[in-house]
Amino acid sequence: MERFTRYLAALASANKLGDRVKWLFFPGMLQENCDKWWDDFGRRPTAHEGIDFCFFREGEKKIARLTKNAQIPAMDKGLILNRCEDFLGESLVIAHEGFDHFSSKVVFVYSHLKIKKNLGPGSRVEKGQIIAQVFDTSLKQSKLLPHLHLSCIELMEKTPLDDLNWSLFSDRKKINLINPVFI
Ligand SMILES: [Zn+2]
Repeated sequence: MERFTRYLAALASANKLGDRVKWLFFPGMLQENCDKWWDDFGRRPTAHEGIDFCFFREGEKKIARLTKNAQIPAMDKGLILNRCEDFLGESLVIAHEGFDHFSSKVVFVYSHLKIKKNLGPGSRVEKGQIIAQVFDTSLKQSKLLPHLHLSCIELMEKTPLDDLNWSLFSDRKKINLINPVFI
């Protein structure tokens, strides 16, 4: 939980939201939930594979949200393993330091982004480094608002870097999902 809380603060700081920010999560934004938080608020086709960051409140002000220019920082120091497409924008797959005690096969997937041009497999990132902006979902006529999706995934077997993409991450038989809220 400590890392997750720190990441919420880093996300606020990267976007100069001040230190009175409270992040807000609808049930459908949380891992394993099957509700949509957009469009008709119906059911998702599959349970959510991570957590979505979009809404926040600054002090007593009304609810605001990440805009299409929102800056996305890296949670920790790490190594980029892959960069792949997702259904909205692009995803960055990062092995963060500090997870060796947990499993050497844990990767973090930051999704629905417009990733910095100079970042790709083999690039190192520092804690707090800006790795991307959120993807402008209006470019795909999506009813989803621009947001960051974060997944924490334990790989069950040695996987070629190119295969670290959403066809693997969405296959529950091949991976274990770790809830980012509790890291
Ligand atoms: Zn999501």
